[in-house]
Amino acid sequence: MVGGSLAGLSAANWLCATGWEVDVLERACEPLVDRGAGIVLHPATSRFLTAQEGLALDAFSVAVDHLRYLGPDGSVVTERESRFRFAAYGALYRSLRRSLERRGGRYVHGARVTAVRTAGRTAHVALADGTGTSGQLLVGADGVHSTVRRLILPDVEPELGGYVAWRGVLDEDELPAHALRPLERAITYTILDHAHILTYPIQAADGRMRRNWVWYRNLTAPGELEELLRDRDGERHELSVAAGAVRQQLVAALAAEADRELPPPLATLVGRTATPFVQAMVDVTPPHLVVGRVCLLGDAGFVARPHAAAGTAKAAEEAWLLAQALSDPAVELEEALAGWERGALDLGSALVARSRRAGERAQREGSWNVGEPPPFGLRSTGDSEY
Ligand SMILES: Cc1cc2nc3c(=O)[nH]c(=O)nc-3n(C[C@H](O)[C@H](O)[C@H](O)COP(=O)(O)OP(=O)(O)OC[C@H]3O[C@@H](n4cnc5c(N)ncnc54)[C@H](O)[C@@H]3O)c2cc1C
Repeated sequence: MVGGSLAGLSAANWLCATGWEVDVLERACEPLVDRGAGIVLHPATSRFLTAQEGLALDAFSVAVDHLRYLGPDGSVVTERESRFRFAAYGALYRSLRRSLERRGGRYVHGARVTAVRTAGRTAHVALADGTGTSGQLLVGADGVHSTVRRLILPDVEPELGGYVAWRGVLDEDELPAHALRPLERAITYTILDHAHILTYPIQAADGRMRRNWVWYRNLTAPGELEELLRDRDGERHELSVAAGAVRQQLVAALAAEADRELPPPLATLVGRTATPFVQAMVDVTPPHLVVGRVCLLGDAGFVARPHAAAGTAKAAEEAWLLAQALSDPAVELEEALAGWERGALDLGSALVARSRRAGERAQREGSWNVGEPPPFGLRSTGDSEY
């Protein structure tokens, strides 16, 4: 397994559970717990932890009971019942890692893969430190900038969507009561002029409640994306700048724009977030997911814009289906991979198209109606609800 984030851990766990021996090669030298972001949970995402590990959903996620839309003055314009659940990235990562350790999977930090190749029935990888390893199958789960994808499908490039998602997380006790109250027990949206923002609660490892938010903003000036993607040290990133690395002047400008453009509770939430981070919205649509004994899953394969909130769910579903496909010893590995690929291509291309459509409606057409259900879902809108 190349990549030890949510896709890699999901696949490693499902494969271990069906009897495979798995090594996870992760380039980061430390556990990935500090990625400050929330995930809208999906039954596919929680399936391993509930069905295989016997965890209660409350052990790694929180529920809300309302979907709410706020108007420009911060008043509630519409509200309806909802059954979405939300998890902190760290809660999923920690739970999946604990499970992998219990199952005897090996997780190697500081292992950056630089080359892959299939020879006969064996896949080989080379690492940046000059070592290498091999196995029956190599799974590329190394994210949107996937080295494995670039090596096996060099013509596939992310397509820019023309807007960015600003994201952040703030402890709820840093929000004054007047800002927190309109957001409580809800996922809350505000539809803006060719933009939108949403926020929902997540829980930190120590039990603190936090507020995750995502503000989708169109790029309007030439060179704007390049400016957003240049970090504090002047380094230009390809598609995203991590929390803590965004230039202070951009953080200050975002807070000022929040004051001008957002309803007061959301302006307070964004303005008080010390380390927001930014990601360019892209679609990635590879023509294949299997080449020889190498396959791609998670963001290393298809990348959908986040409006359907199903990237992690897609990774978990692909992982589950891969383990199922490989679990029958009577089926040759190539045949099993071909069957898995057909299903994963259908899943990925449909999700990318549905998410792109949702993004175009909100950011280009301005046709996302206040009050409508969010486009969350993996195979169809609405299948994320519990
Ligand atoms: C704004 C936004 C909101 C989102 N919200 C949701 C949501 O609500 N619900 C949902 O289901 N999904 C959501 N997603 C999608 C989700 O974040 C990802 O799709 C999902 O977590 C899959 O991640 P991954 O493991 O494939 O990739 P990543 O998390 O990027 O992990 C890739 C890993 O590979 C490692 N790596 C990279 N290159 C190498 C190499 N050469 N050698 C070794 N290791 C390497 C990296 O260090 C990293 O740990 C959202 C995404 C965005 C941008």
